[in-house]
Amino acid sequence: MNDPRVQVQQFPRTIHIIGVASGLGAADRGCESAPDALRALDLIERLRARGRRVRWVETIRPYRDGSTLEAVVDICKYLAQQVESAVRQAELPLVLGGDHSCAIGTWKGAARALRSRGPIGLLWIDAHMDAHTPHTTPSGALHGMPLACLLGHGDPALTAIAGGTRLEPGRVCLIGVRSFEPSEAALLQRLGVRVFFMREIQERGLEAVMRDALQIVQCGTVGFGVTLDLDALDPVEAPAVGTPVPGGLSAAALRPALARLATLPTLLGGEIVEYDPQRDREGVTGMLAASLAEALLVGEAVPAFAEIEYRYGAHHYDPLPLVLVRGEGAYLWDEQGRRYLDMMSAYSALSHGHCHPRITRVLAEQARTLALTSRVYYNNRLPLFLRRLCEITGLPMALPANTGLEAVEAALKAARKWAYTVKGVAPDRAQIIACEGNFHGRSIAILAMSSEAQYRDGFGPYPLGFELVPFGDADALERAITPDTAAFLVEPIQGEGGIIVPPPGYLARCARICRAHNVLLICDEVQTGLGRTGRMLACEHEGVRPDAVILGKALGGGVLPVSALVGRRDLMEVFRPGDHGSTFAGSPLAAAVGLEALNVLVERRLPERAAELGGYFMRRLQEISSPLVREVRGKGLLIGVEIDTERVPARVLCERLLERGVLTKDTHGRVLRFTPALIITREQIDEAVAALRAVLTELDQAPPA
Ligand code: PMP
Repeated sequence: MNDPRVQVQQFPRTIHIIGVASGLGAADRGCESAPDALRALDLIERLRARGRRVRWVETIRPYRDGSTLEAVVDICKYLAQQVESAVRQAELPLVLGGDHSCAIGTWKGAARALRSRGPIGLLWIDAHMDAHTPHTTPSGALHGMPLACLLGHGDPALTAIAGGTRLEPGRVCLIGVRSFEPSEAALLQRLGVRVFFMREIQERGLEAVMRDALQIVQCGTVGFGVTLDLDALDPVEAPAVGTPVPGGLSAAALRPALARLATLPTLLGGEIVEYDPQRDREGVTGMLAASLAEALLVGEAVPAFAEIEYRYGAHHYDPLPLVLVRGEGAYLWDEQGRRYLDMMSAYSALSHGHCHPRITRVLAEQARTLALTSRVYYNNRLPLFLRRLCEITGLPMALPANTGLEAVEAALKAARKWAYTVKGVAPDRAQIIACEGNFHGRSIAILAMSSEAQYRDGFGPYPLGFELVPFGDADALERAITPDTAAFLVEPIQGEGGIIVPPPGYLARCARICRAHNVLLICDEVQTGLGRTGRMLACEHEGVRPDAVILGKALGGGVLPVSALVGRRDLMEVFRPGDHGSTFAGSPLAAAVGLEALNVLVERRLPERAAELGGYFMRRLQEISSPLVREVRGKGLLIGVEIDTERVPARVLCERLLERGVLTKDTHGRVLRFTPALIITREQIDEAVAALRAVLTELDQAPPA
C-alpha cells in the first residue's frame, strides 16, 4: 500500500492559491463569496500543517462595468496569466472559484505555460458536461460553456483567451456526469472526449474509473490538471453547491481518489468551483470542499487499515484518519503509539473506561466457562443480572436485549400490547408519543419516530402509530395525548440530538401528566443512564420513577452490547412465552459482564464521581471565553459545547483536537461532545480543557496570508 506522504516529500512544490470571487458566469451569484469563505475555514493553515509552503497569491474580483461576457473574459485572461506563471515556476496552482466559467482561464493558462513541451490532460469532475456553445445553451449562463471553450468551441472572445490555446479533447475526461443536454453530449462525442457517467461509476467503482481516466489524461501529455465542480458530489452530503443534482459521488470515495492524484508528479494543478456559502447553513459543504482541496494538494494520510476498510466495508461512516490499536482507562493509542485522551467514549458507552480490569476478567472467565445457551434453558448468570437491574432501577421486572435499539423496540412492543390488554385501547389504534430531535436507534420502527431527514430518507415506508411533540414542552405533550395514547417515550437529556437539557421540572411534569391520563412514561436512558449525568438514572434528578426505563451502552461495561428494558409489572407481564426473543440476549456472557458493569458502577461510586467531576469540568469549560463557543451545557459528564458554525464547523475543531491528542465527535456539525469515561481524573480533564482552549484560540485568530 502506498503511503502518499512519503511520495509527496519528493516534490514539495509551493502551493499557489488564487481565488476567483465571481459568480458572473452563473445565473445565481452565490458562489462569488466561496474563496473568502474557504479562506476563513483555515485552508492555508491546514495545508501548512501538512508541511507545505502555501501562498494565497490573490483573490480576483470582477472590476469591469460592462457586459457579463466582457467581465468574465477579463477575469479569465488575468487568471490565465496567473496560472501560467505558477506552472512555469513549477509551482502548484489551486484555483478556488467562483462559478465554473473560471476554468477557461485556469486551464488555458496551464496549457500555455507548457505549450512548447506538449499537451496537457484534464480531469473534469462534474455532474454536468459544461460543453454548451452560445448556440446550444438553454440558460445562456457561461458556467455551462467552459469545457466547450477549452476545446475551441464557443464565443470567440472566450476561445481567444491565452492566444487561443486549446486542450486536446482526447486527453480530457469527464467524471461523474448525470445531467446534460444531447447537444453537449454530441459535441463531446464528436471531439472524442471520454465521459465517465455516474452510472458507470456506480457499476465499476470510482477507483477503477479513475484508473482509466488517469491513463487517458497522462498518455502523451506533460501533466494533467483536475477541475472539481462540487456539484459532482451527492447533494445529501454537499447541498450548498451551484447546481445540485441527485445521485452524485460520495466525499468518502472522492477524497482518497484525489489523494492518490496528489502523489503524482504529473499533477499540474487543481481547481475547485461552485461552492455556495450562502446556502451552507451547517458549514458542511465548505468543510468538504476544504478537505477535498487538502486531499488533492497534499494527499490524504490514509492509513493502510483505512484503505482496507474503505475497500471492503460499506460506507455508512466517514471516520477520521486515525487507526486505534489499544485502549486503557480514558486513553487510546494509535498505530504509531501516539496517545489520545478519549472524550467521546464510544457515544458514552465507555463509562468504565477502556478495558476495565474487573470487567475484562469476568469477560474472559465467563467466555472460557459458558458463553451462550439461548433462553431455551436457564443459566446461572442471567437471573443475578436481572435482579441487580431491578434493584438499581427500583422497578420490578427486566427484559435483556443486545443493542440499545433492541431494548427500545421491546419497549414499543410492550407499550402497544399493554395498551390493548391492560388499558383497553381498540386493536391497532395504540399511539406512542415521542419528542422532536430524539434519537432512539435506527431500526425502521424507531425511525418512524425520528424527525431527522437524513436518518429517514430513502428507507420508508414507516409503520404508523407514532406522534411527535417538541422536546421540553410538557403542555404540548398533554395536548397530544388521546384515549389511544399508550406511552410517552423520552430521553431525559437528548444526547445525539445535541446534548439538549430540557427546562427544570419538565420530566416531573411529564410524569404527572402521564399518570393523570394513564399513559406510560418510558425513559430512554441508554445514553443518560448508569451514572453518566451524576445520578444512577437521569430521571432521579427530578425525583421521577418512570413506568419503564431503557438501558444500554455502559451496561455492557465497554466490551459487549448489553441492554435491557426494565419496567413495572403490568407492563412487563404482557409478554408471554414466544411473544418476543433474541438468540444472544441474556446470554451468560452478556449477563456476567452486565452484572459486573453494574457492580463496578456502584462500588466505585461512579455516578457520584460523574456529579463531582462533571461539575468541575463544566466550570472549567464555562471559564473559557471564546467567540467561537455559543454555549456549554449538560449534566454530570454528559457535556456539549455548542460552536458558532458561522465561524467554524465543529468537525474542524474535532480535527484540531485530534491533532492535539484529544478525541471527540461533533453531533449535527455544531456541538462538540465531552462524554469521557466516568473514571476520568481532574488532571485529564485539565488536559482536555487546555487542548480545547488552545484550539479555540488558534481558530479565532485570522488565518495568516
Ligand atoms: N437510545 C439512545 C438515547 C441512544 O443514544 C442510542 C445510541 N446512541 C440508542 C438508543 C441506540 O443504541 P444502539 O446504538 O446500541 O442500538
